[in-house]
Amino acid sequence: MTPAEKRELLHKDRERVWHPFTQMKDYAERDHLLIEKAEGLYLYDADGNRYYDTVSSWWVNVHGHGHPRIKQAIARQLEDTDHIMFSGFTHRPAIELADKLIEIAPPGLGKVFYSDNGSTAVEVALKMSFQYWQHVGRPGKTKFAFLEHSYHGDTLGAVSVGGVDLYHATFRPLLFDAYRVTAPRISRWENGSPTPEAAEHGVAEALEAVKRLFESSADEIAGFIIEPMVQAAGGILIHPAAYVAGVRELCTRYEVHLIADEVAVGFGRTGTMFACEHAGITPDLLILSKGLTAGIMPLAATLCTDRIYEAFYDDYETMKTFFHGHSFTGNPLACAVALESLRLFEEERVLEHVRTISEALRGQLPRFEPFRHLGNIRQLGMIAAFDLVQDTETGKAFPSSERRGYHVYLEALKEGLILRPLGDTIYYWLPHCTSEEQLHDIVDRTCAVLERLGYR
Ligand code: PMP
Repeated sequence: MTPAEKRELLHKDRERVWHPFTQMKDYAERDHLLIEKAEGLYLYDADGNRYYDTVSSWWVNVHGHGHPRIKQAIARQLEDTDHIMFSGFTHRPAIELADKLIEIAPPGLGKVFYSDNGSTAVEVALKMSFQYWQHVGRPGKTKFAFLEHSYHGDTLGAVSVGGVDLYHATFRPLLFDAYRVTAPRISRWENGSPTPEAAEHGVAEALEAVKRLFESSADEIAGFIIEPMVQAAGGILIHPAAYVAGVRELCTRYEVHLIADEVAVGFGRTGTMFACEHAGITPDLLILSKGLTAGIMPLAATLCTDRIYEAFYDDYETMKTFFHGHSFTGNPLACAVALESLRLFEEERVLEHVRTISEALRGQLPRFEPFRHLGNIRQLGMIAAFDLVQDTETGKAFPSSERRGYHVYLEALKEGLILRPLGDTIYYWLPHCTSEEQLHDIVDRTCAVLERLGYR
């Protein structure tokens, strides 16, 4: 691309494009990064600068960018079909993918309902759960419970069960009422790993909160939605598996659907194929997207138990149909890519590699300990995070006006790293294809950034 073309494109970007999750005034003087090529773990801008995609392009990428097998899968499928509507019609990629998902998902999930992004798959789960209780003669079960710090997407149903005020509070007048439940207080604020006793205490306390809610209100609660193991957009908060197992047990006992949102953590990111496996549980509804297509095509799926499905199965006149669907439901190209990605998981032993790199990542984390104002270092699988705080003893935050995380982001770009923070939480959400050498280089560069910004 010539410098003139680049200038012209960026000018049009500023004039015409409104980017998500962005205060556009930040870009009144500064350009967005114009990316021209993506390959493996790297993005290349129009000037040829290379950046490590340490956040897997918003937590989606799995096998790296531009994987030849994924490209071929799209091309092959396009020879046969482009998009096909999915009511009254079906196709091989969607059928085979549903079959495969049921095979690899936690046991007991029997049906796959497709959509095309994480938020809509959340909407599907909420509506399915709600309608199920209407069909089985429990019409009072109309509400949902969710965890503080939770993030389930940006559509209004998903926002109604969202627990991050920064993103969600503005829309409150538009939202349905839902119960906000206290999350386990384990990683915030302990400065480093919590002791096993602290973790156990945190889990017990949080489960007690769920139990109290269910004892008083389970009659009106359809489902409890959680991000199992890692609350992602709420600040990369890692929960013990015992919490997820305890929630499953309470949901079963009090007849509340457990809705597991694995949009972000599914497909190996936490070291197991699905995060629910850490706790050895099966949710009633499982929500998948992002890594489903290895982060290449928009696709999502909501899996449910046969019991839920059967409550909708009746004569048309009973109005038990699930009236929900999107134009791009089960897009064949996206399904073909998802299938190819799952073949790669098996053939290239991706989960074994993830376990090796996760160990290596754990081994690197002590390198952050000597830094000032840095604490709460945590990790699960390919995910690791730390917080920048004024006082590492108390966890007192820096004034938000200082935008510490944002400054790390800007400095990291100069170092060839995309470290996209959540407030003052800096994290890695590494693609599965990361090599040990690349991991070391990423940590070296992160340390250099912190050093330059005076955190040593
Ligand atoms: N659930 C979780 C846990 C997520 O992290 C996200 C997106 N970051 C979503 C749902 C929404 O997915 P999408 O952005 O595809 O709508």
